[in-house]
Amino acid sequence: MMRLPPFTYLAPRTAADAARLVAEHGPEAMLVAGGTDLYPNMKRRQFEPRILVALGGIRELGGVSGSARDGLRIGPLTTLTAVSRHREIVRHYPALATAAGLVSSPQLRNVGTIGGNVCVDTRCNYYNQSQPWRKAIGFCMKKDGDICLVAPSSSRCWAVSSSDTAPALWSLGARVRLAGPSGERTVPIAALYRDDGIEYLAKRADEIVTEIVLPPADGWRSTYLKLRRRGAFDFPILGVAAALRLEGDVVREARVVLGAVASLPREAPKAAAVLVGQRLTNETIEAAADAAAGPARPLDNTDLTHPYRKKVTRVYVARALARLAGFDHGPVLAEIA
Ligand SMILES: Cc1cc2nc3c(=O)[nH]c(=O)nc-3n(C[C@H](O)[C@H](O)[C@H](O)COP(=O)(O)OP(=O)(O)OC[C@H]3O[C@@H](n4cnc5c(N)ncnc54)[C@H](O)[C@@H]3O)c2cc1C
Ligand code: SF4
Repeated sequence: MMRLPPFTYLAPRTAADAARLVAEHGPEAMLVAGGTDLYPNMKRRQFEPRILVALGGIRELGGVSGSARDGLRIGPLTTLTAVSRHREIVRHYPALATAAGLVSSPQLRNVGTIGGNVCVDTRCNYYNQSQPWRKAIGFCMKKDGDICLVAPSSSRCWAVSSSDTAPALWSLGARVRLAGPSGERTVPIAALYRDDGIEYLAKRADEIVTEIVLPPADGWRSTYLKLRRRGAFDFPILGVAAALRLEGDVVREARVVLGAVASLPREAPKAAAVLVGQRLTNETIEAAADAAAGPARPLDNTDLTHPYRKKVTRVYVARALARLAGFDHGPVLAEIA
């Protein structure tokens, strides 16, 4: 059995106190929300904080407020179950409700939070292993070593962004509010991520996600598709979030964002450009799917083979767009079947 190492647990009552405590204790401290990712990582010694600053008792970080007409504010402590069932989110931001409802298993969704999900660690077959396993094969640069075992000549880590809600929130144009000892700022969720498997977040370690803000739904349609090995629960091998705003039957705005294909969610602007100004026909959907597969460059460090993961990106993008168009199937889908 893997056991947690000893640590000190601090339970502040305000976000400002939590940020101050993390800043005070520096690299020895980490934030914990639901702990569904952090505690297993501590058991495997991927994380070795001596101090945990718990967010669970901070009331200001909970709850959902606002409306689809004016925009929604989601507290980062909102559980994934609550996000997946929230009436306004289900109705007006379905990509997010779907993505939250596909994370892991019901038990983990009841405890895991949306704040933890947008900040969740990147993953790699050589890293998400027990400490003895990693020691036996030789540690890699993400923890305790100095080379990348997937791409040994690379100077960077290619661990994969594996959050389900991050691409969905990105496609919906969400923003995140960050609070730290040096003040508060609100940034587009796209600006929260860096293309680096180790330093995958662009926020400072002492900054807390205090709010996730969704813009007015304003006629946007959205959806999220997830590829995983086990339907019951598994991290994404591919996530496709697609959001479109139509006027009549013409696409006026579009966002397609891929998850689990790089160290950060990867937007596919060329796919959006193909769609804007067009009607959603089989031909435009197929052209957009071709364009979306371009930014997906998976490496051989997660489940299934990377050529398959690249190929299936096109199929999932086509399926997502076909769903938004209300089609049962399209040419790309028929080709795969
Ligand atoms: C078996 C298993 C399967 C899983 N499957 C999936 C899956 O399919 N999809 C998926 O996306 N995830 C999956 N997860 C990971 C995890 O359960 C979820 O990502 C969950 O949403 C994490 O939320 P949490 O509140 O438990 O975060 P925690 O584990 O508490 O924290 C995760 C990270 O976020 C940071 N953090 C948390 N809250 C904040 C905040 N407000 N501000 C700043 N930093 C913060 C923590 O410091 C930590 O680095 C799985 C985990 C397990 C164990
Ligand atoms: S991509 Fe390379 S450095 Fe990063 S976790 Fe995997 S093996 Fe380690």
